[in-house]
Amino acid sequence: MLGAVPVGGGSPVSIQSMTNTATSNVGATLEQFAALEEAGCDIVRVAVPDEESAMAIPSLIAGTSMPLVADIHFDHRLALLAIEKGAHGIRINPGTIGSPERAREVARAAADAGTVVRVGVNSGSLESRLRKEGARAEAESLARSALDSVDMLEDSGVGAIKVSVKASDVPRTVTAYRIVAEETDWPLHVGITEAGTIWSGTIKSSVGIGALLAMGIGDTIRVSLTAPPVEEVRVAKVILASLGLREAGLEVISCPTCARTEIDVVTLATRVEEALEGCRVPLKVAVMGCPVNGPGEAREADVGIAGGKEGGLLFVGGELLRRVGPDDLYEELISEVKRLVEDRMRGNA
Ligand code: SF4
Repeated sequence: MLGAVPVGGGSPVSIQSMTNTATSNVGATLEQFAALEEAGCDIVRVAVPDEESAMAIPSLIAGTSMPLVADIHFDHRLALLAIEKGAHGIRINPGTIGSPERAREVARAAADAGTVVRVGVNSGSLESRLRKEGARAEAESLARSALDSVDMLEDSGVGAIKVSVKASDVPRTVTAYRIVAEETDWPLHVGITEAGTIWSGTIKSSVGIGALLAMGIGDTIRVSLTAPPVEEVRVAKVILASLGLREAGLEVISCPTCARTEIDVVTLATRVEEALEGCRVPLKVAVMGCPVNGPGEAREADVGIAGGKEGGLLFVGGELLRRVGPDDLYEELISEVKRLVEDRMRGNA
């Protein structure tokens, strides 16, 4: 358990993100927490680079229902302070926390306080000699480094451990996690580190995290993007939903368009997605371009439109409802979706 969120042991895969405000700026950080939670984040991590940040932990915890993980590098005293201030979990990298004695001191404090410890090994902090030995060697070194730290934490009496072994490329990361998964039962925090911008980082993270989750590896995930943290949560949700590991909320299906396309699928699908962003009601909405393949998919969805010569065909619940003129496609589709969303919310109330 990380606060009230179960991690591992067959519990749902949880989503994490990390704030990029100054942790000591409680107001700004809590604002970002709220946005993350609203987007579907389960666990939040903050960097603790100085004493003021560690001192802010109680106020941050008081202002959110998400469990808080303090991320600490270099200064083991900050890890001790974060534990003292009540962080639900700490993340340390054995390669950056200092001497083995200091790491053990942190471990003993976490054991006494019942704080969760994530061993977060990153390829960036591996010795360059190991990196030069090639991908397999690097993956093995990542895994070995993490597993050695797990041994140390267990010996020190830490009762709740998570492990991550992130490299910045997918094959190394996947190999490292496979090795760790074979050798430990502790829950694994999965991600691709420094994955990149929203476009390339989303692809890299989806491939890497998706491959691991499809193998049954991973209990909690973080998508690392050079983008606002809320985007990380949005991507994480789609990764989990696409593997059937989490209810998708509202999902827009749209065709790739081709020479048969009769309507502006790109604009329509984009507008629909934007209008319904954040809707948690599980509904499928299809936007299809033509009367050839469109009706099949539109029928499968809860609400669907299939383009035709004079507008489109509107389907609701698998039935053709009516023909819609070209200028009314968006309005008609959205009003049917909103009606269904309200119905379902009333049904669940
Ligand atoms: Fe082309 Fe129709 Fe398929 Fe869209 S649904 S890609 S328009 S065939």
